[in-house]
Amino acid sequence: MEKKNILMSKFKHLTGALAGLVALGLAPAAAQNYPTRPITVIVPFAAGGPTDVIARIVGDHMSKTLGQTLVIENVVGAGGTTGITRAKRAKNHGYTIAMGHLGTQAAAPALYPNLQYDPLNDFEQIGLAAGTPILILAKKDFPPKDLKEFVTYVKANESKLNMAHAGVGSVSFTTCLLLNHILKVKPTSIPYQGTGPSINALVGGQVDYMCDQIVNAVPQVLGGTIKAYAIGTEERNPALPNVPTSKEAGLPEFQASAWNALIAPKDTPKPIMEKLSAALDKALDDEATRKRLLELGSDIPGKNRRGGAALSALVKSEIDKWTPVIKAAGPLN
Ligand code: ASP
Repeated sequence: MEKKNILMSKFKHLTGALAGLVALGLAPAAAQNYPTRPITVIVPFAAGGPTDVIARIVGDHMSKTLGQTLVIENVVGAGGTTGITRAKRAKNHGYTIAMGHLGTQAAAPALYPNLQYDPLNDFEQIGLAAGTPILILAKKDFPPKDLKEFVTYVKANESKLNMAHAGVGSVSFTTCLLLNHILKVKPTSIPYQGTGPSINALVGGQVDYMCDQIVNAVPQVLGGTIKAYAIGTEERNPALPNVPTSKEAGLPEFQASAWNALIAPKDTPKPIMEKLSAALDKALDDEATRKRLLELGSDIPGKNRRGGAALSALVKSEIDKWTPVIKAAGPLN
């Protein structure tokens, strides 16, 4: 009996010590040895779109640093919110993380009253992977030859036009909501499971126009299979130097730039979070990785925009920025 009590008290002592270690961020062996098997990265959109492409580019280099493969799993639906909800419910052991973006982490709360996650409180933030300016795109034989003509044409023909996007909550939906609000038009909106498939529809001429993250469009714009009317940033982009800014092209109100970022389920142990953030940081310093991202037009975050704290601040400020824009542009079509 006596022996059992001593054992029990030792056990209590040990579990207490363990809890203390975890609280201090000094987690048990599982976290220290992490990762010992492949890591799943949930991409909440179809393969071939910006989120998927960025996840694969940074994931390739992170796999080298971490010594384990980052395996992409495309979990599509509801403008990316299905995949992010799955990530929220995943075990917080570091083996399931996700690539979110401006849409899923900052626009979705204003678009879905019953959103199943809170972008800030239900996740640990690994870090910003890439900034992605937004382009106004159209099929190659869309009649307007510049943005001014685009504005006139879209206003005159709105009932006949189809606008593609990646679902309510996506970046393409949200940024074209802004564009359509500025133009006061409501075209027919055609949702896809990502903008990989929507760009294909644009190339095939099944839809007329869309707004999207530059990463998806550079080869097609350069190859002339689609048109880009303007970029929603202050500066032109070196990957598409002939595409004017929205300000130069006469629509300065259209300011739109997105981003992609890695997140993990809440309470993922601190040593694991540190390894993931450090691996992302290293990927963003790697010359070959940078080249791949830059060729696609992305804006690589400088050191002060990297890591979890900077990402939390970004998510907060982007929610504050986009919520009133979305509310003003509603009701949704
Ligand atoms: N760019 C997309 C969006 O509009 C999604 C994707 O990455 O396919 O949110």
